Amino acid sequence: MSMNTDFPARAIIDRSALGKNLQELRKCNPNIQVMAVVKANAYGHGGAQIARAALEFGVKWFGVAQLAEALQLRQALKDFPAARIFTWIFSPDADLETAIKANLDIAVSNAETLLRVASAARAAGKKARVHLAVDTGMGREGALPKNLAPLLSAAEMAADEGTVEVSGIWSHLARGDENGVGEQATVKQLADFQMACEAAERRGFTGLVRHLSASSGLLWHPPAHFDLARYGIAMYGLTPNPSRATTASLQLTPIMRLEADLISVKKLPAGHPVSYGGTWVAPHDTYIGIVPLGYADGIDRHASGKIWVAANGERYPQVGRICMDQFMVDLGCGKDGNPPLPVGATVRLWGDGSQGEPTADDWAKAAETINYTIVTDLNPRVPRVYI
Ligand SMILES: *Cc1c(COP(=O)(O)O)cnc(C)c1O
Repeated sequence: MSMNTDFPARAIIDRSALGKNLQELRKCNPNIQVMAVVKANAYGHGGAQIARAALEFGVKWFGVAQLAEALQLRQALKDFPAARIFTWIFSPDADLETAIKANLDIAVSNAETLLRVASAARAAGKKARVHLAVDTGMGREGALPKNLAPLLSAAEMAADEGTVEVSGIWSHLARGDENGVGEQATVKQLADFQMACEAAERRGFTGLVRHLSASSGLLWHPPAHFDLARYGIAMYGLTPNPSRATTASLQLTPIMRLEADLISVKKLPAGHPVSYGGTWVAPHDTYIGIVPLGYADGIDRHASGKIWVAANGERYPQVGRICMDQFMVDLGCGKDGNPPLPVGATVRLWGDGSQGEPTADDWAKAAETINYTIVTDLNPRVPRVYI
């Protein structure tokens, strides 16, 4: 493990935990294909490294949101030209010719886009691969079921002409992680998706890869599995919804641990304030440690005063407001005039909780957000170390 001593913090990314999670999730349905969703720098874990590791674990499909991410990933995986890369966000004037030459699987939501893909394919002299997007309730990408016919007609035309191969049909669940009314919404989405698949089949599009499920659908909605599941948050070892099932109960292992070395430890006298606004004041003489990470690194400022760090099984509360590049922790009074932790000591900000550190779920709770944003927001300036 190589450490960058110029930056006294690092995210440790455990590739074997990724393998374990993939194996665990595979049990949900061993008969479907797996797409590793590695958008947004693989939720902060490092796009190229995670994709490569997933490839080594046998994953053949990769999902990224932006076309630019897809092109970058194709470059990063250039030794594996057979890797399928699915992308679903691009602008109306995107360079689709380049996308087609890069052999991407392109999501298409309407007839106009399909025709643009077809004409780009003509220009590229290469058949484009598309996945028809259906909006079954997300209100985001995809044709509404009632507008599917014109998309299918355009697809039929382009397929006959030989410029486009329709290889998939897909949609996305809006409430796949919920209980109660959310379940009913999912059942409705499932039925609409099923109908869209049948409509495509009636137009002669057979053998399409049908995909509806992200992590939540994979974990909690077997009828939504179809032919492929898009593995996101759960692959990174986090639950899609801790109030439905905890990460631990799902047998998942968070693959990222964030740690930092205290850059300063000093004793503050009772009554001394800490950080902007003086929202925290030392109740007694106490040692304050400085953790060299802040909101510029993606540490959520909303968690100020509600979170802790840990070392050797001991918890140290974070105190005062989280700053741009650092925050303070209360280490306590120490013994015999020695601080509880020396300067340079490594503390854990988040991980699997095995050393008393918070999990991404704990941070999410403190910051009133979701575990997704906790890991995804970690800024690229924080070094990633792969083990
Ligand atoms: C982000 C995303 C996923 C992955 O979702 P998770 O909840 O992280 O599993 C899958 N499909 C689409 C279309 C997405 O935008």
